[in-house]
Amino acid sequence: MPRYEYRCRTCGDTFEMSRPMAESSAPASCPAGHDDTVKLLSTVAVGGTAAASAAPAPGTGGGGGCCGGGCCG
Ligand SMILES: [Zn+2]
Repeated sequence: MPRYEYRCRTCGDTFEMSRPMAESSAPASCPAGHDDTVKLLSTVAVGGTAAASAAPAPGTGGGGGCCGGGCCG
């Protein structure tokens, strides 16, 4: 789930929230409970984490060298 950064215009605090992209523009309350917040343009790390989780982990499921030798395809 992507993380978005917000800034509270009431107390000036900045905070991050993890929420679905569909709710990225939805109002977010700051940790102090203020509702007057704005979403900041931050570097969302969804690309890196998605690529890392989609890549198969090497070395798991091999074991005997069968898959390395080509008999498993
Ligand atoms: Zn606040």
